[in-house]
Amino acid sequence: MEIEALKDLIAGQESDMFAFLEELVNTESGIDQISGVNQVGTIISQWCESIGMTTRTIPHDQAGDLLIAEYKTAENKDQKPIVLSGHMDTVFNADVTKNHHFRLLADKPGFAKGAGLMDMKGGLVIAMYVVKNLIEMGYQKHPLSLIFIPDEETLHRYSDTRQEMIGELQNAALMLNFEPTPTFDEIVVGRQGGMMLNVTVEGVQGHSGMEVEIGRSAVVELAQKVVALEALTDIPVVDGLGIVGTGAHTLEEEADLTSLVPRVALSIQAILDL
Ligand SMILES: [Zn+2]
Repeated sequence: MEIEALKDLIAGQESDMFAFLEELVNTESGIDQISGVNQVGTIISQWCESIGMTTRTIPHDQAGDLLIAEYKTAENKDQKPIVLSGHMDTVFNADVTKNHHFRLLADKPGFAKGAGLMDMKGGLVIAMYVVKNLIEMGYQKHPLSLIFIPDEETLHRYSDTRQEMIGELQNAALMLNFEPTPTFDEIVVGRQGGMMLNVTVEGVQGHSGMEVEIGRSAVVELAQKVVALEALTDIPVVDGLGIVGTGAHTLEEEADLTSLVPRVALSIQAILDL
């Protein structure tokens, strides 16, 4: 199918995509919200079953459940699956949607704001509509899987998600992840990630009046460690090196919703061309 015809087809689903995105954004699934992540998982799994996929979960005690949705037919069941993936959790804290719920911007048509809209509930909706449309087109070449990660923002620290993903992907033809990218019609094949460190620095107690010379400042030492850590990388700017208090990323996101339709269409075309 030509790309313009694909875009026309997907354009008819735009308002459904917006409504679904609104529901996902307004279902909080922040850093400490395991039940919220699982609630997002339930919404997604019901949707996946409604388009003919089968779903299963791998439960975790201290993180949300890993959700896998699969579609295969008698013709392609022995072929390697194409896997589309994304994460359901966000970096935000509980109650963020009180002020940062999903909303269309009246002064900027086509744009919306909301916590987790870009990273990455928008990407989840794109991946899901790619699969939905491929199924409806009768795509047969490969089985299709969607894998929804519960704990990307905490780097899978409290679960075995990393090993479970490796297990799920053993037989895959390829995996496409739907994180946001600065590029539009290209596939990003590598990028840097984050690392979390706990650095504890102890000072030496002194007294500002009587024994100032024996005191050593933990704050100064920590500042020097931050400079030394930053010097370990050759990336010119290290963004978001969190030192005290706040999370790694606490800005609300603004997204261009008019890009949803072409992104779904381009992704479908890329899979059809494989
Ligand atoms: Zn992300």
